[in-house]
Amino acid sequence: MLIREQIRYKSRREIEKLRAAGRIAANALRVAARAAQPGVSLLELDKLAEDFIRRQGATPSFKGYHGFPATLCTSVNDRVVHGIPTSYRLQEGDIIAIDCGAKLEGYHGDTCLTVGVGEVGEAARALMQSCQLAMFVGIEHCRVGLRLGDMSSAVQRFAEERGFSVVREYIGHGIGRDLHEDPQVVFADQRPGTGFRMEPGMTITIEPIFNTGGARCRVEKDGWTVRTADGGLSAQFEHMVAITKDGPEILSLPDPEFEMPDGT
Ligand code: MG
Ligand code: MG
Repeated sequence: MLIREQIRYKSRREIEKLRAAGRIAANALRVAARAAQPGVSLLELDKLAEDFIRRQGATPSFKGYHGFPATLCTSVNDRVVHGIPTSYRLQEGDIIAIDCGAKLEGYHGDTCLTVGVGEVGEAARALMQSCQLAMFVGIEHCRVGLRLGDMSSAVQRFAEERGFSVVREYIGHGIGRDLHEDPQVVFADQRPGTGFRMEPGMTITIEPIFNTGGARCRVEKDGWTVRTADGGLSAQFEHMVAITKDGPEILSLPDPEFEMPDGT
């Protein structure tokens, strides 16, 4: 049962603060994603992103959050979310989900993408493309008059029609002065016309996670890193979105010079 009062609605000024933080997180994400080449370690990616964020006068949102030790979550292949950067060196054919948060002037940015390392297999490519498209399908449903279940069921249908499963345990969220605010934004098991109403001033993340196999996950001994239970591949994409009377606004777009060659 959702209590409406828990949602913090944002003014236009606050939405612009979130956009500024989201842009830094998005740019840092591109710096790390471009560097994700064979032979590069996850710790090296993390340092690149942290240095970039601090040079912008921002701070990493994840570092120290409930004890998380790094700037990025780096989740390779069957890792689903919350992968702690290690000395693991990326290999040709890996896929890596990189999630990045940055805090600027009291507001958080939070965005994620998945990229291939060198040439990746057809199944991995289809997974990544479908997950990214599903994120945009979800964003298109962030419109006044629609409800959570309208967005969520569209994302789930998109996944399942293509043979992928949607991870249930890790979900989107409101974002603002806190990294994780209400409401909880789920991407499966909701009926159209149910759940919270999309209303102007809400700022939420759309961040579906798709697996090639089953949806079930398990947490590794480090207490953070999550893997697929069946060893299948996992991908995630995330944008922050403001719901306005004129439609959804993506708040985590990179500056043009940080665009990836393939348009992600
Ligand atoms: Mg994130
Ligand atoms: Mg998030």
